[in-house]
Parts: sequence; C-alpha cells; structure tokens
Amino acid sequence: MTDIRSMSMEELEELVLFMGEKKFRAKQIYKWLHKELADDYEAMSDLSKNLRGELLKSCPLYGVREIKRLSSAKDGTVKYLFALHDDNVIESVLMRYKHGNSVCISSQVGCNMGCRFCASTVDGCVRSLTASEMLAQVYAIQKDCGERVSNVVVMGSGEPLDNYEALLRFIRMISDENGLNISQRNLTVSTCGLVPKIRELADEKLQITLAISLHAPNDEKRRELMPVAKVYSLDELMEACRYYFDRTGRRVTFEYALVAGSNDSDEDASQLTALLKGLGAHVNLIPVNPVTESGLKRPGIKSCEHFRDMLLKHHVNATIRRELGSDVNAACGQLRRSHLGG
Ligand code: SAH
Repeated sequence: MTDIRSMSMEELEELVLFMGEKKFRAKQIYKWLHKELADDYEAMSDLSKNLRGELLKSCPLYGVREIKRLSSAKDGTVKYLFALHDDNVIESVLMRYKHGNSVCISSQVGCNMGCRFCASTVDGCVRSLTASEMLAQVYAIQKDCGERVSNVVVMGSGEPLDNYEALLRFIRMISDENGLNISQRNLTVSTCGLVPKIRELADEKLQITLAISLHAPNDEKRRELMPVAKVYSLDELMEACRYYFDRTGRRVTFEYALVAGSNDSDEDASQLTALLKGLGAHVNLIPVNPVTESGLKRPGIKSCEHFRDMLLKHHVNATIRRELGSDVNAACGQLRRSHLGG
C-alpha cells in the first residue's frame, strides 16, 4: 500500500501520472492533505469521483486516532494519546505559549536509547514512525484545538536521529509552503547525541534548532545516565555541535535534567561551563521527572536555582524549564506508559 501522506510533491506527481491523471492533480491532492488537513478522500471535492475511488483503493489514509486527551487545568497544556493504524500507541503534547502554540511530537513507538531517567525507553523501540505519522500528530492537534500550530519540537518518545530519513521528510514537508508552512526556525529536533547523524544533519543546511540532551558534565557521569555516552565521547559530541553551528549558523541548545546527588553539584556546574565555553549555547535545566523504575530524584527548586546561577555567573545562558502540564502526566513517555499499565 502507498503511504500517500508521506509523499513529496514530485513523488505525488509521478503517482498521478502513473494513474493516468494530469500532473496538476498532484498539487490539488497535496493541498487537501497538507493544507486543508483532510482525513478522507470524500472531502476532496475538486477531484473526480473516479479518482477518489482509485485513491481510496490503493492509498489508504493512515492518520492518528485520539484515544485519550488530558487537559491541564493549570496552564492549558493538552496531552494526547494517539493510536496508529496498527494499534500501537504514541503520545503528543500541545503547549500554549505567549508566542504561539507549540506541539511536541513522538518520532518512534518507544525508544532504544536506554536513558536511565526516561519512561519511553523501558520496553525498547517497537518501530519507527513514518513521516506521515509525524505530520498526522501535528495535523490532528491543530484541528482539535482550532488554532494554528506555530512551533514543533521533536522531543516526544523516540530518538529522531535513529529515524533519520523519515525525520528529514517530515521537516521538509511541515515547512513546505504548500503545506502548513511552519518556519524551520520554529522547528526543534532533540537528540541524545548520535554523532555521525548530527554531522549529516549539519550538511543538510536546514534552519532548524538542534537540541542536545547532555545531562552530565563529563563522560563518566554521562555513561551512568545514558548508554549512548559509551559509544560517543563528550569530546566527539561537542566537536559535532561546533560543526553543526559552523555549517548552519544555528546555535545549539543543551538539555540538562538535574538529578539530585548525581549531576547537580557545584563541581558539575563548573565542569559544564568549561565544556560549553565559547559555544554561545543555551542550557535548559529540567528538574528530572521521577520515573518509578529509575529511582532518580529531582533536586529542590533552591538547588536548581543555585545551579542555574553558577552557570550564569560564568556567562553560560541558562534557564530552568517552566513545567507545563505536570498535572496531566505530560513528561516524556509517562502517559503511554501508564496506558500500557507500567
Ligand atoms: N531521544 C531524544 C528526544 C526524546 S527525549 C533525546 O534524547 O533528546 C526529550 C527530552 O526529554 C530529552 O532531553 C530527554 O533527555 C528528556 N527526558 C526524558 N525523560 C525525562 C525525565 N524523566 N525527566 C526530565 N527529562 C527527561
């Protein structure tokens, strides 16, 4: 079966020509799928009945099906649990900021990276998502909230750079002027640090923001929290980040989950400033969300602020991430996990 919603305009043109139709039909179909966000062929009123029937037979429109929706009473954050056509379950989040609506999407069902603090990785990766399944999360949420989505962060379950081809397709399509036309500057991809893929991404010359999940100021501590650190050293990772910055002109962001007694000491803060010196980097400090299996604890707010101030004192830009949706299980993989009975 053809996954028509993952197809670029050029591929769609080939498809309609192959079906014996005129080339301009591709533009009409693309617009229905990616601008009007149609979920069925019936809606595509400017296509012939015959063509709609043919498309229905050969290209089923796989979307996402909402199975749960939790709205935060505190801040308007909405957490969605979606089922895919094969009944796998993923989660996505809508966050409302002053500057617009931001959607956090998943890139895989589960994850293989094994980070100790993360709920998404507990049962490994079931499969990667297609570009259309990533798009469908944004489309479903935009339709559900009835407002324009202006930012997308690929920071939900999964390691996006472990699903590279589909990710790139997604980025190109969501920023396409024939689709939702979301500026690449408003797209963020977060990775645990797959070094060769970061370099490959740098060479694509995109304008997206790269976020690195750092979480530790040295190799020894990083290896305790993140298995990927056994494969790539921090030196290699920082080199790749510099390369990304040089090639794209885009500053890299660093995520640092603060774990009490593990990576939150003064010594950790000064090692971190040394590591990031000269990168003009921004650090997002996230008090770790305790996941039952991990046994890891978050530091108190005072310690988090102290850690942040240590970074600021050494001219490293840092903020403590405002927690949204904490009353609706909005942290990394937690809703899916509770749905699966974990
Ligand atoms: N695999 C990618 C993207 C998904 S994880 C990555 O590693 O970046 C998105 C972010 O949430 C990462 O920074 C991840 O380290 C962080 N995260 C996962 N579980 C968390 C938890 N329990 N508390 C705080 N941050 C967490």
